Amino acid sequence: MGKRTPMTGDRWGKAVVIGGGYAGLVTARVLSDYFGEVVILERDPVDDETGVHPHTPQAHHAHAMLAKGAEILETLFPGLRAELRDLGAPVFDYGERISFLQPAGFAPRCRTGVLVQTFTRHELERRLRQRVLALSGVTLLASARCEGLLMEQPGAVSGVVYRVDGSAEPTRLAADLVVDASGRAGGLDRWLGDLGLPVPGKRVVKTKITYTSMNFARPEQDRTDFDVAYQMTFAPGIARGGVILAVEHDRWTCSLFGFEDQAPPTDDQGYLDFARSLTNPRLAELIERRSNPEPTRQYVNVNNRWSEYHKAKAWPERLLAVGDSVCVFNPVYGQGLTVAALEADLLRGMLTAARSDGTELDGLSRTFQRRLARLLLVPWTLSSNSDLMWSPQGRPLSARVAHWYNQQVFAVSVHDPEVWSRFARVANMVAPPGVLFHPSVLVKVIGAALFRRRAASPTADPGGSVPEVLQQPGGSGG
Ligand SMILES: Cc1cc2nc3c(=O)[nH]c(=O)nc-3n(C[C@H](O)[C@H](O)[C@H](O)COP(=O)(O)OP(=O)(O)OC[C@H]3O[C@@H](n4cnc5c(N)ncnc54)[C@H](O)[C@@H]3O)c2cc1C
Repeated sequence: MGKRTPMTGDRWGKAVVIGGGYAGLVTARVLSDYFGEVVILERDPVDDETGVHPHTPQAHHAHAMLAKGAEILETLFPGLRAELRDLGAPVFDYGERISFLQPAGFAPRCRTGVLVQTFTRHELERRLRQRVLALSGVTLLASARCEGLLMEQPGAVSGVVYRVDGSAEPTRLAADLVVDASGRAGGLDRWLGDLGLPVPGKRVVKTKITYTSMNFARPEQDRTDFDVAYQMTFAPGIARGGVILAVEHDRWTCSLFGFEDQAPPTDDQGYLDFARSLTNPRLAELIERRSNPEPTRQYVNVNNRWSEYHKAKAWPERLLAVGDSVCVFNPVYGQGLTVAALEADLLRGMLTAARSDGTELDGLSRTFQRRLARLLLVPWTLSSNSDLMWSPQGRPLSARVAHWYNQQVFAVSVHDPEVWSRFARVANMVAPPGVLFHPSVLVKVIGAALFRRRAASPTADPGGSVPEVLQQPGGSGG
């Protein structure tokens, strides 16, 4: 157990956050309500004007913020949505302004009640950093790389060791709470090992996906009937996809992606050809007439990976881990930012309860990691079930059943705005997956599946089996 942590007024002493990326900033915002001092250690030379920085190369690529994540961010950073809208980041209904090509065809254009906003990850992170650094008690140590954890008494972390770029000597920094938000390439496992603590195992679902992205101008003529054009990937047949988002400052941000060997090229012609190979024509149309482009970037994402810190037998007190440091999702499902916001919200709830009960910080860390694991279960199951379907060897029955059901939901929703709205709510994490198993949906799904089965049978009238797959725009969707 660690030492008692005295409170000054209603605040504990000092919290240190390792990593000043997205999850680190959102977590620091929460901690600033409960600690007199919050120190963010960031290995890159960032300041309040920085958006993308060298150790967050993924931030060059299209980032969708799900409605749930945006809702939480707005509670932590009131006025953020309006601030981004003032820069030109559109706010719209998920059903109304997305040309959404799902595996069975274009989604209906209908009001879903799910409000989303599109912006670059660069601008989001820049705005969050500005807001967090303006909070009293928050300090950023830039170009400061964490090298390890301190543990003065067995069982409780008591600070960190870091080194500022160019300095020969490391510095020790004592803390009442340490939060690791050092991301997918962070050092937590190594630091636990250095303390002689066992490093818990990982769940890994192997999938390789390559993103190639570019930003370019969005002139007046591009302001038509959509702010997002999207083509989903779907195992096993649709290995190529792409998304183009209208973002702040009259720009488009476009990411093309492909599984395994289907990497979108980085050269201009190859990029356009890849976009032309997609069935949603909107992406190629915009890429073809692009102007004022920024450099093309590529990122290869390998594996969904969940570090099971909640199972650690000797997880120390006063240490929390959040964001990609704990769980990396396949980016095509757009979950990482929202999950990190949910984790920050979880922490806020737990710190509020601990403060009002007068509870010590000891006891918090293990409970936090366990609750965080419960929170991860749904997004992890959704993305890993889909990804397991890419591998011919590893398709467990549960993944096959879930995949079959998804397929039926997509097929029904092409013609059914009500079912599409339910899907929109689940995909944006504002409703649990259970709403897609409501009896009203089950009846439609089973009815449509039986109809298709009959229509596909050799005795059926071939005229009755109209394939729904990949309708072109101009029909009910697009
Ligand atoms: C191509 C791609 C597209 C994506 N698209 C989406 C999307 O559409 N929607 C979505 O929600 N998510 C998306 N994601 C996921 C999202 O980018 C991550 O979930 C998110 O960045 C996690 O934030 P983080 O702060 O945990 O990690 P990061 O953003 O990686 O930040 C980690 C930070 O820690 C710092 N750091 C590392 N080690 C140290 C150290 N030793 N000392 C000090 N600092 C350190 C790094 O410099 C960095 O600033 C995408 C990911 C990829 C790869």
